[in-house]
Amino acid sequence: MRRGDGHVASVAKVRAKFTQADVRAAVAGLRGSVSFQAPLREYTSFKIGGPADVVVEPVDIEDVCLVVRQARAHKIPLFVLGGTNLLVRDGGIRGIVVNLARLRGIKEEPGSVLYAEGGVGMPTLIGYAIRHSLAGLEWAAGIPGTVAGCVVMNAGTKLGEMKDSIKAICMVNMKGQVVELEAAQIRFEYRRALLPRGIVVGVWLQLKQGVRSEIERVVKDYLRYRRDTQPLAMPSAGCVFKNPPNDSAGRLIEEANLKGVRVGGAEVSMKHANFMVNRGRASAADVTALIRKVRSAIRRRAGVHLELELKIVGKA
Ligand SMILES: Cc1cc2nc3c(=O)[nH]c(=O)nc-3n(C[C@H](O)[C@H](O)[C@H](O)COP(=O)(O)OP(=O)(O)OC[C@H]3O[C@@H](n4cnc5c(N)ncnc54)[C@H](O)[C@@H]3O)c2cc1C
Repeated sequence: MRRGDGHVASVAKVRAKFTQADVRAAVAGLRGSVSFQAPLREYTSFKIGGPADVVVEPVDIEDVCLVVRQARAHKIPLFVLGGTNLLVRDGGIRGIVVNLARLRGIKEEPGSVLYAEGGVGMPTLIGYAIRHSLAGLEWAAGIPGTVAGCVVMNAGTKLGEMKDSIKAICMVNMKGQVVELEAAQIRFEYRRALLPRGIVVGVWLQLKQGVRSEIERVVKDYLRYRRDTQPLAMPSAGCVFKNPPNDSAGRLIEEANLKGVRVGGAEVSMKHANFMVNRGRASAADVTALIRKVRSAIRRRAGVHLELELKIVGKA
Protein backbone atom coordinates (compact mmCIF):
# COMPACT_ATOMS: atom_id res chain seq x y z
CA MET A 1 0.00 0.00 0.00
CA ARG A 2 1.17 3.46 -0.82
CA ARG A 3 1.97 5.70 2.14
CA GLY A 4 0.10 8.96 1.90
CA ASP A 5 -0.33 11.70 4.46
CA GLY A 6 -3.51 9.96 5.45
CA HIS A 7 -5.54 13.11 5.11
CA VAL A 8 -7.21 13.06 1.76
CA ALA A 9 -8.67 9.78 0.73
CA SER A 10 -8.35 10.54 -2.93
CA VAL A 11 -8.87 7.94 -5.59
CA ALA A 12 -5.60 7.18 -7.38
CA LYS A 13 -6.67 8.48 -10.78
CA VAL A 14 -9.35 11.13 -10.65
CA ARG A 15 -10.84 12.93 -13.61
CA ALA A 16 -10.14 16.61 -13.90
CA LYS A 17 -13.69 17.02 -15.16
CA PHE A 18 -16.75 15.03 -14.30
CA THR A 19 -20.48 15.63 -14.44
CA GLN A 20 -23.28 15.40 -11.88
CA ALA A 21 -24.32 12.22 -13.71
CA ASP A 22 -20.88 10.69 -12.98
CA VAL A 23 -21.24 11.66 -9.34
CA ARG A 24 -24.75 10.17 -9.19
CA ALA A 25 -23.48 6.92 -10.70
CA ALA A 26 -20.66 6.77 -8.13
CA VAL A 27 -23.08 6.96 -5.19
CA ALA A 28 -25.84 4.75 -6.67
CA GLY A 29 -26.99 1.85 -4.53
CA LEU A 30 -25.68 3.19 -1.22
CA ARG A 31 -27.90 2.31 1.72
CA GLY A 32 -26.81 5.38 3.69
CA SER A 33 -27.94 8.95 3.10
CA VAL A 34 -26.90 10.86 -0.01
CA SER A 35 -27.24 14.70 -0.19
CA PHE A 36 -26.39 16.50 -3.42
CA GLN A 37 -25.02 20.06 -3.36
CA ALA A 38 -24.79 19.85 0.41
CA PRO A 39 -23.48 23.00 2.16
CA LEU A 40 -20.41 21.91 4.10
CA ARG A 41 -20.80 24.68 6.69
CA GLU A 42 -23.43 22.35 8.16
CA TYR A 43 -20.76 19.68 8.67
CA THR A 44 -17.97 21.81 10.14
CA SER A 45 -17.49 23.15 13.67
CA PHE A 46 -16.36 26.47 12.10
CA LYS A 47 -19.78 26.76 10.36
CA ILE A 48 -17.90 27.71 7.20
CA GLY A 49 -17.62 25.98 3.84
CA GLY A 50 -19.11 25.93 0.34
CA PRO A 51 -21.05 22.97 -1.07
CA ALA A 52 -19.91 19.45 -1.84
CA ASP A 53 -21.10 17.80 -5.04
CA VAL A 54 -22.44 15.14 -2.72
CA VAL A 55 -22.15 14.15 0.94
CA VAL A 56 -22.73 10.51 1.80
CA GLU A 57 -23.23 8.94 5.21
CA PRO A 58 -22.64 5.20 4.80
CA VAL A 59 -24.58 2.95 7.19
CA ASP A 60 -21.82 0.39 7.70
CA ILE A 61 -18.36 -0.67 6.53
CA GLU A 62 -19.79 -2.52 3.51
CA ASP A 63 -21.41 0.74 2.41
CA VAL A 64 -18.02 2.50 2.79
CA CYS A 65 -16.41 -0.20 0.60
CA LEU A 66 -19.11 0.28 -2.02
CA VAL A 67 -18.68 4.05 -2.27
CA VAL A 68 -14.89 3.71 -2.48
CA ARG A 69 -15.11 1.08 -5.24
CA GLN A 70 -17.63 3.10 -7.22
CA ALA A 71 -15.69 6.36 -6.80
CA ARG A 72 -12.65 4.52 -8.12
CA ALA A 73 -14.56 3.06 -11.06
CA HIS A 74 -15.89 6.50 -12.03
CA LYS A 75 -12.62 8.30 -11.11
CA ILE A 76 -14.37 10.71 -8.74
CA PRO A 77 -12.34 12.18 -5.84
CA LEU A 78 -13.29 11.27 -2.27
CA PHE A 79 -12.78 13.27 0.88
CA VAL A 80 -13.62 12.19 4.44
CA LEU A 81 -14.61 14.58 7.16
CA GLY A 82 -15.60 14.70 10.77
CA GLY A 83 -15.39 18.49 10.44
CA THR A 84 -13.71 19.82 13.58
CA ASN A 85 -10.20 20.56 12.34
CA LEU A 86 -11.14 21.85 8.93
CA LEU A 87 -11.51 25.07 7.04
CA VAL A 88 -13.48 24.25 3.90
CA ARG A 89 -13.00 26.98 1.30
CA ASP A 90 -15.97 28.94 -0.03
CA GLY A 91 -16.07 27.09 -3.37
CA GLY A 92 -16.66 23.80 -1.53
CA ILE A 93 -15.35 20.33 -2.37
CA ARG A 94 -15.70 18.66 -5.76
CA GLY A 95 -16.55 15.00 -5.74
CA ILE A 96 -17.79 12.82 -2.91
CA VAL A 97 -17.52 13.81 0.74
CA VAL A 98 -17.87 10.91 3.15
CA ASN A 99 -19.12 11.51 6.67
CA LEU A 100 -19.02 8.55 9.06
CA ALA A 101 -21.67 9.87 11.47
CA ARG A 102 -23.65 6.61 11.17
CA LEU A 103 -20.69 4.38 12.05
CA ARG A 104 -21.05 4.83 15.76
CA GLY A 105 -20.83 1.39 17.38
CA ILE A 106 -18.67 0.86 20.47
CA LYS A 107 -17.90 -2.46 22.10
CA GLU A 108 -15.70 -3.63 24.94
CA GLU A 109 -13.36 -6.53 24.23
CA PRO A 110 -11.35 -8.63 26.69
CA GLY A 111 -8.24 -7.07 28.23
CA SER A 112 -9.65 -3.51 28.64
CA VAL A 113 -9.79 -3.00 24.87
CA LEU A 114 -12.46 -0.79 23.32
CA TYR A 115 -13.40 -1.08 19.66
CA ALA A 116 -15.00 2.08 18.28
CA GLU A 117 -16.34 2.59 14.78
CA GLY A 118 -14.75 5.52 12.97
CA GLY A 119 -17.67 7.92 13.32
CA VAL A 120 -17.90 7.70 17.11
CA GLY A 121 -17.41 11.15 18.60
CA MET A 122 -14.59 11.45 21.12
CA PRO A 123 -16.95 12.84 23.80
CA THR A 124 -19.25 9.80 23.38
CA LEU A 125 -16.29 7.44 23.59
CA ILE A 126 -15.01 9.08 26.76
CA GLY A 127 -18.51 8.83 28.27
CA TYR A 128 -18.51 5.09 27.49
CA ALA A 129 -15.02 4.64 28.98
CA ILE A 130 -16.13 6.39 32.17
CA ARG A 131 -19.23 4.18 32.50
CA HIS A 132 -17.05 1.08 32.08
CA SER A 133 -14.29 2.36 34.44
CA LEU A 134 -11.73 2.29 31.63
CA ALA A 135 -8.86 4.73 32.03
CA GLY A 136 -6.51 6.11 29.38
CA LEU A 137 -8.58 8.57 27.34
CA GLU A 138 -8.91 11.33 29.93
CA TRP A 139 -6.36 13.45 28.02
CA ALA A 140 -8.87 13.77 25.15
CA ALA A 141 -11.71 15.29 27.20
CA GLY A 142 -13.23 18.11 25.21
CA ILE A 143 -11.84 17.14 21.79
CA PRO A 144 -14.94 17.21 19.59
CA GLY A 145 -13.71 15.15 16.58
CA THR A 146 -14.49 11.58 15.57
CA VAL A 147 -12.27 8.79 16.84
CA ALA A 148 -11.06 8.20 13.24
CA GLY A 149 -10.25 11.89 12.77
CA CYS A 150 -8.32 11.77 16.04
CA VAL A 151 -6.25 8.83 14.73
CA VAL A 152 -5.49 10.57 11.43
CA MET A 153 -4.56 13.80 13.22
CA ASN A 154 -2.85 12.00 16.12
CA ALA A 155 -4.91 14.40 18.21
CA GLY A 156 -3.42 15.35 21.52
CA THR A 157 -3.26 17.65 24.49
CA LYS A 158 -0.61 18.32 27.06
CA LEU A 159 -1.92 15.23 28.91
CA GLY A 160 -1.48 12.72 26.09
CA GLU A 161 -1.87 11.78 22.44
CA MET A 162 -4.00 9.41 20.42
CA LYS A 163 -1.00 7.21 19.57
CA ASP A 164 -0.64 6.34 23.30
CA SER A 165 -3.92 4.39 23.23
CA ILE A 166 -4.13 2.88 19.73
CA LYS A 167 -3.80 -0.90 19.51
CA ALA A 168 -4.86 -1.30 15.88
CA ILE A 169 -7.03 0.33 13.25
CA CYS A 170 -9.38 -0.88 10.56
CA MET A 171 -9.34 0.89 7.19
CA VAL A 172 -11.05 0.65 3.86
CA ASN A 173 -8.26 1.03 1.33
CA MET A 174 -8.65 2.77 -2.00
CA LYS A 175 -9.56 -0.51 -3.69
CA GLY A 176 -12.54 -0.76 -1.37
CA GLN A 177 -11.03 -3.60 0.69
CA VAL A 178 -11.03 -3.83 4.49
CA VAL A 179 -7.53 -3.95 5.99
CA GLU A 180 -6.24 -3.89 9.54
CA LEU A 181 -3.06 -2.24 10.75
CA GLU A 182 -1.36 -2.78 14.11
CA ALA A 183 -0.22 0.38 15.91
CA ALA A 184 3.42 -0.73 15.42
CA GLN A 185 2.91 -0.49 11.63
CA ILE A 186 1.91 3.17 11.83
CA ARG A 187 4.28 6.12 12.18
CA PHE A 188 2.85 8.87 14.34
CA GLU A 189 4.17 12.40 14.33
CA TYR A 190 3.07 15.62 16.00
CA ARG A 191 -0.56 15.98 14.90
CA ARG A 192 -0.44 13.46 12.11
CA ALA A 193 -0.34 9.74 11.44
CA LEU A 194 1.33 8.43 8.31
CA LEU A 195 -1.35 6.11 7.02
CA PRO A 196 -1.97 4.42 3.71
CA ARG A 197 -4.60 6.20 1.65
CA GLY A 198 -8.07 5.16 2.63
CA ILE A 199 -10.80 5.64 5.18
CA VAL A 200 -10.33 4.75 8.83
CA VAL A 201 -13.51 2.92 9.80
CA GLY A 202 -12.63 1.47 13.21
CA VAL A 203 -10.11 1.72 16.02
CA TRP A 204 -9.06 -0.65 18.82
CA LEU A 205 -7.92 1.26 21.87
CA GLN A 206 -5.85 -0.31 24.63
CA LEU A 207 -7.12 1.14 27.89
CA LYS A 208 -6.71 -0.01 31.48
CA GLN A 209 -9.09 -0.79 34.30
CA GLY A 210 -9.45 2.25 36.52
CA VAL A 211 -11.61 3.75 39.23
CA ARG A 212 -14.68 5.42 37.77
CA SER A 213 -14.77 8.37 40.18
CA GLU A 214 -11.08 9.12 39.54
CA ILE A 215 -11.46 8.97 35.73
CA GLU A 216 -14.51 11.20 35.97
CA ARG A 217 -12.67 13.71 38.16
CA VAL A 218 -9.76 14.06 35.68
CA VAL A 219 -12.20 14.47 32.75
CA LYS A 220 -14.29 17.09 34.59
CA ASP A 221 -11.18 19.05 35.64
CA TYR A 222 -9.93 19.10 32.07
CA LEU A 223 -13.33 20.15 30.68
CA ARG A 224 -13.43 22.99 33.24
CA TYR A 225 -9.92 24.05 32.20
CA ARG A 226 -11.06 24.13 28.56
CA ARG A 227 -14.17 26.15 29.38
CA ASP A 228 -12.00 28.66 31.24
CA THR A 229 -9.37 29.01 28.52
CA GLN A 230 -11.05 28.28 25.15
CA PRO A 231 -13.84 30.05 23.24
CA LEU A 232 -16.17 27.05 23.27
CA ALA A 233 -19.34 29.09 22.79
CA MET A 234 -18.27 30.27 19.33
CA PRO A 235 -17.75 28.30 16.12
CA SER A 236 -14.07 27.43 15.60
CA ALA A 237 -11.87 24.58 14.43
CA GLY A 238 -9.68 24.36 17.54
CA CYS A 239 -6.05 25.48 17.38
CA VAL A 240 -5.12 27.05 14.07
CA PHE A 241 -1.34 26.67 14.31
CA LYS A 242 0.95 23.91 15.55
CA ASN A 243 3.13 24.83 18.48
CA PRO A 244 6.67 25.57 17.25
CA PRO A 245 9.34 23.38 18.92
CA ASN A 246 9.65 24.31 22.63
CA ASP A 247 7.24 27.20 22.27
CA SER A 248 3.54 27.95 22.12
CA ALA A 249 1.79 29.48 19.12
CA GLY A 250 -0.81 31.02 21.45
CA ARG A 251 1.89 32.74 23.50
CA LEU A 252 3.57 34.19 20.39
CA ILE A 253 0.24 35.49 19.02
CA GLU A 254 -0.82 36.94 22.37
CA GLU A 255 2.54 38.70 22.87
CA ALA A 256 2.17 40.25 19.42
CA ASN A 257 -1.12 41.81 20.67
CA LEU A 258 -3.13 40.06 17.99
CA LYS A 259 -6.03 38.92 20.19
CA GLY A 260 -9.25 40.42 18.85
CA VAL A 261 -7.80 41.23 15.41
CA ARG A 262 -10.48 40.69 12.73
CA VAL A 263 -10.85 40.19 9.01
CA GLY A 264 -14.52 40.27 8.02
CA GLY A 265 -16.33 37.88 10.33
CA ALA A 266 -13.18 36.01 11.44
CA GLU A 267 -11.45 36.99 14.68
CA VAL A 268 -8.40 35.92 16.68
CA SER A 269 -10.16 34.78 19.84
CA MET A 270 -9.93 37.10 22.83
CA LYS A 271 -9.92 34.02 25.07
CA HIS A 272 -7.25 31.87 23.38
CA ALA A 273 -4.90 33.46 20.87
CA ASN A 274 -4.38 30.23 18.88
CA PHE A 275 -8.12 29.93 18.16
CA MET A 276 -9.86 31.85 15.40
CA VAL A 277 -13.61 32.20 15.79
CA ASN A 278 -16.43 32.78 13.35
CA ARG A 279 -18.37 35.78 14.63
CA GLY A 280 -21.39 34.70 12.59
CA ARG A 281 -20.82 35.37 8.92
CA ALA A 282 -17.16 34.62 8.36
CA SER A 283 -16.18 33.25 4.97
CA ALA A 284 -13.24 30.93 4.44
CA ALA A 285 -11.56 33.83 2.60
CA ASP A 286 -11.84 35.92 5.81
CA VAL A 287 -10.13 33.16 7.80
CA THR A 288 -7.32 32.62 5.28
CA ALA A 289 -6.68 36.39 5.17
CA LEU A 290 -6.54 36.46 8.98
CA ILE A 291 -4.13 33.51 8.95
CA ARG A 292 -1.85 35.40 6.55
CA LYS A 293 -1.99 38.48 8.74
CA VAL A 294 -1.07 36.56 11.92
CA ARG A 295 1.67 34.59 10.20
CA SER A 296 3.37 37.62 8.72
CA ALA A 297 3.18 39.51 12.06
CA ILE A 298 4.79 36.60 13.91
CA ARG A 299 7.43 36.13 11.21
CA ARG A 300 8.36 39.83 11.43
CA ARG A 301 8.25 40.01 15.22
CA ALA A 302 9.64 36.65 16.33
CA GLY A 303 11.21 35.24 13.15
CA VAL A 304 9.03 32.14 13.51
CA HIS A 305 7.03 30.51 10.71
CA LEU A 306 3.80 29.20 12.18
CA GLU A 307 2.75 25.92 10.61
CA LEU A 308 -0.94 25.18 10.24
CA GLU A 309 -2.60 22.56 12.44
CA LEU A 310 -5.92 23.39 10.76
CA LYS A 311 -6.48 21.64 7.41
CA ILE A 312 -7.57 23.95 4.61
CA VAL A 313 -9.43 22.08 1.90
CA GLY A 314 -11.62 22.68 -1.13
CA LYS A 315 -11.83 25.31 -3.88
CA ALA A 316 -11.47 29.04 -3.27
C1 LIG B 1 -13.22 23.43 20.31
C2 LIG B 1 -12.19 22.51 19.71
C3 LIG B 1 -11.18 22.00 20.52
C4 LIG B 1 -10.22 21.16 19.96
N1 LIG B 1 -9.22 20.67 20.77
C5 LIG B 1 -8.28 19.87 20.25
C6 LIG B 1 -7.21 19.37 21.09
O1 LIG B 1 -7.13 19.65 22.27
N2 LIG B 1 -6.28 18.58 20.51
C7 LIG B 1 -6.33 18.23 19.18
O2 LIG B 1 -5.46 17.50 18.73
N3 LIG B 1 -7.33 18.68 18.39
C8 LIG B 1 -8.29 19.49 18.89
N4 LIG B 1 -9.30 19.96 18.07
C9 LIG B 1 -9.29 19.64 16.61
C10 LIG B 1 -10.03 18.38 16.18
O3 LIG B 1 -11.12 18.07 17.02
C11 LIG B 1 -9.07 17.21 16.07
O4 LIG B 1 -8.01 17.48 15.18
C12 LIG B 1 -9.77 15.93 15.59
O5 LIG B 1 -8.81 14.89 15.58
C13 LIG B 1 -10.36 16.07 14.17
O6 LIG B 1 -11.29 15.04 13.99
P1 LIG B 1 -12.45 15.12 12.89
O7 LIG B 1 -13.16 13.83 12.93
O8 LIG B 1 -13.25 16.33 13.09
O9 LIG B 1 -11.60 15.21 11.57
P2 LIG B 1 -11.58 16.37 10.47
O10 LIG B 1 -11.26 17.64 11.10
O11 LIG B 1 -12.79 16.31 9.63
O12 LIG B 1 -10.40 15.85 9.53
C14 LIG B 1 -9.05 16.00 9.86
C15 LIG B 1 -8.28 15.26 8.78
O13 LIG B 1 -8.51 13.86 8.94
C16 LIG B 1 -9.08 13.30 7.75
N5 LIG B 1 -10.06 12.30 8.19
C17 LIG B 1 -11.13 12.50 9.00
N6 LIG B 1 -11.79 11.35 9.20
C18 LIG B 1 -11.12 10.41 8.47
C19 LIG B 1 -11.32 9.01 8.27
N7 LIG B 1 -12.33 8.36 8.84
N8 LIG B 1 -10.45 8.36 7.47
C20 LIG B 1 -9.41 9.01 6.86
N9 LIG B 1 -9.19 10.32 7.00
C21 LIG B 1 -10.03 11.02 7.81
C22 LIG B 1 -9.74 14.45 7.02
O14 LIG B 1 -9.82 14.18 5.64
C23 LIG B 1 -8.78 15.59 7.37
O15 LIG B 1 -7.69 15.60 6.51
C24 LIG B 1 -10.27 20.81 18.59
C25 LIG B 1 -11.30 21.32 17.79
C26 LIG B 1 -12.26 22.17 18.33
C27 LIG B 1 -13.35 22.70 17.46
